[in-house]
Amino acid sequence: MIKYETVIGLEVHTELSTKSKIFCGCSTEFGGAPNTHVCEICSGMPGTLPVMNEAVVNYAIKAGLALNCNITKYNKFDRKNYFYPDLPKAYQISQLYMPICTWGYIEIKDADGNPKKVKIREIHMEEDAGKLIHDPVENVTLVDYNRCGVPLLEIVSEPDMRSAEEVIDYLEKLKSILQYVEVSDCKMQEGSLRADVNISVRPVGSEEFGTRTEMKNINSFKAIARAIENETHRQIELLHEGKEVVQETRHWDDTVGHSRSMRSKEDAQDYKYFPEPDIPPIEITDEQIENIRKSLPELPEAKKARYINELGLPEYDTGIITGSVHLVRLFEHTCALTGNPKETANWIMVELLKLLNDTQTLPENMNFNIDSLAAVINMVSENKINRGTAKKVFAEVFENNVDPVKYVEENNLGMMTDNSAIRAAIEQVVAANEKSVNEYKNGKTQALQYLIGQSMRVLKGKAPAQEVTAILKEILG
Ligand SMILES: [Zn+2]
Repeated sequence: MIKYETVIGLEVHTELSTKSKIFCGCSTEFGGAPNTHVCEICSGMPGTLPVMNEAVVNYAIKAGLALNCNITKYNKFDRKNYFYPDLPKAYQISQLYMPICTWGYIEIKDADGNPKKVKIREIHMEEDAGKLIHDPVENVTLVDYNRCGVPLLEIVSEPDMRSAEEVIDYLEKLKSILQYVEVSDCKMQEGSLRADVNISVRPVGSEEFGTRTEMKNINSFKAIARAIENETHRQIELLHEGKEVVQETRHWDDTVGHSRSMRSKEDAQDYKYFPEPDIPPIEITDEQIENIRKSLPELPEAKKARYINELGLPEYDTGIITGSVHLVRLFEHTCALTGNPKETANWIMVELLKLLNDTQTLPENMNFNIDSLAAVINMVSENKINRGTAKKVFAEVFENNVDPVKYVEENNLGMMTDNSAIRAAIEQVVAANEKSVNEYKNGKTQALQYLIGQSMRVLKGKAPAQEVTAILKEILG
């Protein structure tokens, strides 16, 4: 039987986090009552003219440089004509012929764990469309134009990926880079990052591509992985049966776990692209590119190497932390306040990841004061609270954003600082455990451990163990 391999390319749309839309001054903020972030330009009134938002160009250059692309210094917009109610102008302003960025790459790991470059063919700027909301009860479709005109980057990869794992690796890297350079929040649940997946199969060793299908707007990594597995299987099955794969767009239904045909694939000519006459070509200077290059923050791979080499952190931990800009921010801020990278990394890898996992929270949705983790760690290192208490306090920080120092005070969780009170408690323990005291005096060292344990219990763990041991030995002589 012929062995097949899967060939996958991605078109990723990411909404830019500029304050205003790409061609007008309306807010890009997510949510808001329907049709409240709308003006005559983004609602496509006749006679209005778009005005280019310069921030969009700078964001696109930033993303392009971070993704190792060439920047097209003279680039233009084109009109993509299609009639659909989510786009009131009946055309989308996009870039077909001269996109702003070309030929970059993202480095991922292949099936054997070796580095592999997935090429990015181009990145172009365009405007987002509105949202259609189907109401099955009333049997009507409503339209919300708040999203219409929100700036998008479309990031088009070459068909360089061979498995769902490679695709997820690529998407995770892409998402983290876009978040690092702060061009998009990449919140998939709000549609700020959406992927169209192109899939074909071919016999292993073949150079030619098979016929591909496309699945649009899948909005979670898990769903993307499932859709790829399913579509690969479907195409191989067809070929084994001697049938053909039809070039088409398919809709992935993640709840039932299969896809269905939506429409046969349109070609560029169907859109009657032509140069956008209302927006002059964009000219970018070398100086502008260099200034943006200089402003780029340290990117994930460089950061990972630095954490390993300079801070001595394990590779696995650095991979997890640098995988999310939100974990990086917390890590670096906490290190600055504690001066202890290893302890900070441990708290993130053990306690924080557990809390995130238990509550199914993404790092971007963490909602506590960024100073709080450092405050918890410092209270432990200054012997103000013990480790068990610290974990409970941090859970409160994570869930209710409490002030950890105040919380410890108000709930009387701090370590005892009054040595005479500690001594009094230990004296009671000694008096109540005559048998163990005698055993200790006769040379049975285990008896001391027992007495320490009893003392810690009476003190509710709120006295430092070394202090308790010292006082106990002193009393026992
Ligand atoms: Zn507007």
